Amino acid sequence: MYTKFIKLMLPLPSFFEIDLPSEEEPNVFPVKIAPQTIPCPICQGATVCHDRSRRRFRHGYAWHIGVLWIELFIPRQRCKNCGFTFVFDYGLGLFHSSTESFRREITKRCHGRSIADVAREYALPYTTVERWFYMYAPEDIVEENAKHICVDEFALRKGHNYATSALNAETGKILAIVPHRDQDAIESLLKKVTGSIQTAVSDFAAAMAGAIKSVFPTAIHVLDRFHLVQFFTDALQRRRRYLNDAKKHHKSRFIDRCLARKPEELTEEERGFVREWLREDYHTQHIYQALNPMRYVLKATTETQAEKRLKAWLKRYQFHTSGVVSKIAKTVIAHEKAMIHTIISPFSNGIMEGTNNKIKLIKRRGFGYRNDDRLFLRLRLETGH
Ligand SMILES: [Zn+2]
Repeated sequence: MYTKFIKLMLPLPSFFEIDLPSEEEPNVFPVKIAPQTIPCPICQGATVCHDRSRRRFRHGYAWHIGVLWIELFIPRQRCKNCGFTFVFDYGLGLFHSSTESFRREITKRCHGRSIADVAREYALPYTTVERWFYMYAPEDIVEENAKHICVDEFALRKGHNYATSALNAETGKILAIVPHRDQDAIESLLKKVTGSIQTAVSDFAAAMAGAIKSVFPTAIHVLDRFHLVQFFTDALQRRRRYLNDAKKHHKSRFIDRCLARKPEELTEEERGFVREWLREDYHTQHIYQALNPMRYVLKATTETQAEKRLKAWLKRYQFHTSGVVSKIAKTVIAHEKAMIHTIISPFSNGIMEGTNNKIKLIKRRGFGYRNDDRLFLRLRLETGH
């Protein structure tokens, strides 16, 4: 029973026999190895042991005890045929003072956590764990074939450098990431995605539409609803800033939130405020009043219904006397076809938002990655379900 348990804790080839640790060092397990014929790696000839050294390697971990070491004789063999000498490690991947299986286990512990955390828990030097992580983690990336993707950009460092990512719209897993956000970058990103892509969701940027059209000409391009609504809420925000309301009332966030939310989600008191703000300013009033019918347009479920509602909305707002409103309408007209797809498509940025939050979290946890490739690897490993 006890030996079986030890074998589970310290998985080793069957010809290894694990002894009990001593009282003084309960975390060091002496290991005996049955005699082996060790062939020469060069000529496959017979070899003889001409030297051996007793060494310890980290191989497992146990609660309350900590790292478990194995202690064994590592033979140095000489080929009788060609004279080649080499250290034989029984396929354990011995390097410095750890076995490969230990290094891989530690790498797995780093998923979803910072390397510093893991290094502290297992009492290992930070740089050692970091080296192991970036050596083994890339093998854990599972390539997914996607049918529907979301493409989005995110800031790498406080809004300076940008990167663009493509994710599986059904699982939220990041499929590929590239630095920059211009059309060339987006095209190179999309070329990395595997699968027959039927839908691509993106924001309104022309570079996105151009890249999607060029790489996936048959895919349906869907615009991100969130970005559309954002046109309105951003316009409202800018308008309130312009009116200097924010400073006067010291409650700009409250105002932004009230104006961005659906009227039916507001309290009676908040609705009163909104009425007041709308009365105060012509543009605020019209941006606000154009947003709610747009929400109605977005609720259409069939193509005919979507076309009808969108046409009616555009008719009402494209030549609106409020320049802010007519400008939004012009953007919508420029993307009219994609807008129809957007309205009836079941795919939206919902899943993207979850992934974007994860990106933020991982960026923060890593205290800002100096190396973008390492950040990208982390993101690919830790998104999706
Ligand atoms: Zn040989």
